Amino acid sequence: MTRSSGLANLDPVYKYGYTTASKRFDKMFVNDDNVCNKQPPSSLASQNIDNGHWDANNNAVDSSKSNTQVIVVWRNVFTMIFFHVFAIYAFISTKTKFQTIWWAWTVGQFSSIGVLAGAHRLWSHRSYKAKWPLRLVLMVSQTTALQNDLYEWVRDHRVHHKYSETDADPHNSRRGFFFAHMGWLLCRKHPEVKTKGALVDMSDVWADPIVRFQRRFYMPLVLLFWGFIPVIVPIYCWQEDIFIALSLNLFRYLASLHHTWLVNSAAHIYGNRFYDRKIRPRENKLVAYLTHGEGYHNYHHVFPWDYSASEYGWLHNYNMTTLFIDCCAWFGLAYDRRIVTKSVIEDRISRTGEPLGQLDAEQQQRKPRSAIIDTAVGLALAFWAVILQFSIQYLRCC
Ligand SMILES: [Zn+2]
Ligand SMILES: [Zn+2]
Repeated sequence: MTRSSGLANLDPVYKYGYTTASKRFDKMFVNDDNVCNKQPPSSLASQNIDNGHWDANNNAVDSSKSNTQVIVVWRNVFTMIFFHVFAIYAFISTKTKFQTIWWAWTVGQFSSIGVLAGAHRLWSHRSYKAKWPLRLVLMVSQTTALQNDLYEWVRDHRVHHKYSETDADPHNSRRGFFFAHMGWLLCRKHPEVKTKGALVDMSDVWADPIVRFQRRFYMPLVLLFWGFIPVIVPIYCWQEDIFIALSLNLFRYLASLHHTWLVNSAAHIYGNRFYDRKIRPRENKLVAYLTHGEGYHNYHHVFPWDYSASEYGWLHNYNMTTLFIDCCAWFGLAYDRRIVTKSVIEDRISRTGEPLGQLDAEQQQRKPRSAIIDTAVGLALAFWAVILQFSIQYLRCC
């Protein structure tokens, strides 16, 4: 089944993805023209644009008046440093069993599905619907990723879309790569993030009993799915050393965190802007590979209700998350997948896209010459940690 053949099964409403009802819903979190597509005044844009600050209406703010003072949360800093040192030291210095390496990779991939197909495309953007068994699996999977509970994740993400690159954006990329990547988790939130976050309509998310259940029992669920099961399986099933089991679990956790964070940092700073040159999110192929299809970020910010988070599905582009959702649809677990029609996309590109003269032939196509090679590269990169650790183990043996 291709993305286009899948279209035949879609509700006509979702082929266009922009009915009156969905417009009303999208207003909650889409960066519409009145909010985020507005560029800073040219006088300020000609200055050092990346060091400026913008309020939630995207008006440039005088730095002397803007409350962008960084208040470091040292507990988070030391925790992150400890986690990284512990995980990397164990990763390169221990004799890990092959089963444990594969297990850590599997848990990492499982946790990614919950974030990408669950927290992001399902709960944050409502780009498709899912029956309760799938939502339950996605909730467990997202818990394994330990990136805050679904309610908090969705609220932060909706604020990010609606107030992108302003002080209300939790990981405002105008504050630099490191801040957008992980710095925002190491300091207190900007007051605007809290103010605007409190205004985000979360009623649809709260209406889901699975989300409410996860939020109520989040800590026990984290201990079970993030901490206990990933660690006990290698110890019990193939007698792995407890130190190695713990550190590999931490390593797969940190790897998936960095992959997710790259969407907020690299995909907001490096890449092309085929669909809207006036916003900062970019099309970043490397990020798309590492996040199974979340790097087509310029498209995603322009059309966030598309369940594929990209113009092309998995058949013409590397996008394993879309393949996963399509597989779920084949089994009747996912439905009402929303996409954007070509005419809407082309119309948007003609109005706001990057001028064609600045793009080479492949870029003008907006997709790779060979989807097979593209997918092969993406799948190979998905195994980078496994390949690296097998190499280290091999070198240790020699
Ligand atoms: Zn973004
Ligand atoms: Zn999004």
